[in-house]
Amino acid sequence: MPDPLVAGLKMSIIEHFSSCGTLHYVVVKSKELTPKQILSVPCPTCGAATEEACELHTGAPRTEPHRDRKLSAAGAVERNQTKA
Ligand SMILES: [Zn+2]
Repeated sequence: MPDPLVAGLKMSIIEHFSSCGTLHYVVVKSKELTPKQILSVPCPTCGAATEEACELHTGAPRTEPHRDRKLSAAGAVERNQTKA
């Protein structure tokens, strides 16, 4: 007979793995982005507008865009591809 506790545990493990899978997928995707694609979205971290590079707190440009911006760009690219 099914044990409700075990069933609940199994469910939470499955949920855990599926959310990790999604995150991993987005991270892999964000590595394939071109700088142009990353600049096509505003940065949620430092507030850089589209077409503008990410900035440090001092106002100097960062060499790398913020991680959240890459994720945001990956999501935007994903949406465009689904639309097409
Ligand atoms: Zn930024």
